[in-house]
Amino acid sequence: MTRLYSIGIDLGGTNVKFALIKNSKKVVDKRVLATKDYKTKEELISQLALTVSDILRVNKIKRSGLTGLGIGAAGLVDFNRGFIHSLTNIKGWDNVPLGKILSGKLKVKVFVDNDVNVVTLGEHKYGAGRGFDNLVCLTLGTGVGAGLILNGSLYRGPSFTAGEVGHIPINVRGPKCNCGGRGCLERYVGNRYIIQMAKKLAADNKQSKMYKLVEGKVNKLTPKIVSEAARLKDKAAIQVWQKIGQYIGVALSGLINLLNPEIIIIGGGVSLAGKPLFDSIRKTVSKRAMPNPASKVKIVPAKLGEDAGVIGASILAASEKNK
Ligand SMILES: [Zn+2]
Repeated sequence: MTRLYSIGIDLGGTNVKFALIKNSKKVVDKRVLATKDYKTKEELISQLALTVSDILRVNKIKRSGLTGLGIGAAGLVDFNRGFIHSLTNIKGWDNVPLGKILSGKLKVKVFVDNDVNVVTLGEHKYGAGRGFDNLVCLTLGTGVGAGLILNGSLYRGPSFTAGEVGHIPINVRGPKCNCGGRGCLERYVGNRYIIQMAKKLAADNKQSKMYKLVEGKVNKLTPKIVSEAARLKDKAAIQVWQKIGQYIGVALSGLINLLNPEIIIIGGGVSLAGKPLFDSIRKTVSKRAMPNPASKVKIVPAKLGEDAGVIGASILAASEKNK
């Protein structure tokens, strides 16, 4: 029979999201689990299998109607073997042959990849990157990562670490980073460093809307509140995004000179800062990247939003070569 369905799973530190997808793009069922409800990886893996079985049962789908299961997880993942070396946000997940375990339990094909790679696949196939064969998909949040589509396919690198844009050094003598390097982009534009910068600017400027929105409790500042203040035309908050945009723009200029991409897609919570951030990134790129590739590249926000992870993961399972 024709295999119409695939299941995408977004395995995150807070939630595990599931989506049943028909004909590669229509979400027909969704589930969410709280990651912390499962004390061990064995418990969580059993629950993954139970939830998938339940989705199939409730939707009256036989295993033969499923192209497979795709999983995106934040960490170092060997895509070829479905093997998780380590996860960034869930403890105890070192050296887990997740693909093998789940395909044994469920008797379906299982594909496992890095979370940013699956988001990139989603944006390329159904989001802001549709129709482009060479793109960079940057995600901004606690960490900073990117996926690369080169000549139409995802580039993972020989040991699956390609796209670590957050660890591109932008300062020779910069602060130490937990990757072992120094002056990495993530040390300037990761969530906690944005908040550090915002706290200082708010504390120095008690008339700012940023300061007023948290009633002077600057420890309560989040990137979302800084965005809200910027929307209210708060100068200090706009200054935060201008500075963050400069750092990102400098790193992207290097990438643009190296890869000559057609489009750079920016997603993740921080990208919701919108115009002040994107204006600053574009302005920096137009000044700092080489004129030819800088004039060709579009820099745009991501389109798929919260479903990017599950939709992208399902693409792993639905792609032609896997049928
Ligand atoms: Zn680093």
